[in-house]
Amino acid sequence: NCLDRLEEEVIKILVIGDAGVGKTSFVQRYVKDEFNKDYKCTIGFDSVNKIIKSHGGKPVNFKLQIWDIAGQDRFPLLTRSYYKYARGCLLLFDITRHQTFENVSKWKESLDKNLDPDSPAIPCLLVANKSDKDSDRQVSYNEIEEICQRLNFVQWTETSVKAGTMVQETVTYLIDVILGNS
Ligand code: GDP
Repeated sequence: NCLDRLEEEVIKILVIGDAGVGKTSFVQRYVKDEFNKDYKCTIGFDSVNKIIKSHGGKPVNFKLQIWDIAGQDRFPLLTRSYYKYARGCLLLFDITRHQTFENVSKWKESLDKNLDPDSPAIPCLLVANKSDKDSDRQVSYNEIEEICQRLNFVQWTETSVKAGTMVQETVTYLIDVILGNS
């Protein structure tokens, strides 16, 4: 009922990474279980909500608010407000384009720099996307493991948004860490 809605906690998470790595597709797959193969360049930001009523078999009640902030570089003055109150982050790259992996450190730096210095660090998960294109792979597991440790990611996962592999699990893992169950 409407009183439940009023009491709902909002958990904001960010999805960041280079253009074309699959951020918008990831969010669509997670929220609607859809994959749309048309390329869409996100300008500015987009935010979608999903009401979560159960997690790990336990009843919970919160609104997961997912911010896809692809075009944030074009609006530098707004950057801090995009990052404000975020509780967790997914940083995506594309395993078939090494450059998107090289830019992971820039994205992580930008995240750390723009978060409120008075708030505790937020968990960030590194997501290696497009695992269905393994024959075009340009990034090795060793490289991913190394950067994951060096840049203090809580974990890394490999997903195929196209095939629908590991998408739900990745978000569930992040929620686990945010809720302190991990
Ligand atoms: P964004 O710019 O990071 O939001 O990326 P998009 O979600 O717009 O995706 C960019 C392109 O990659 C689109 O053509 C998607 O269909 C495609 N794509 C996204 N995820 C996957 C995946 O897991 N596998 C493959 N093969 N293509 C993907």
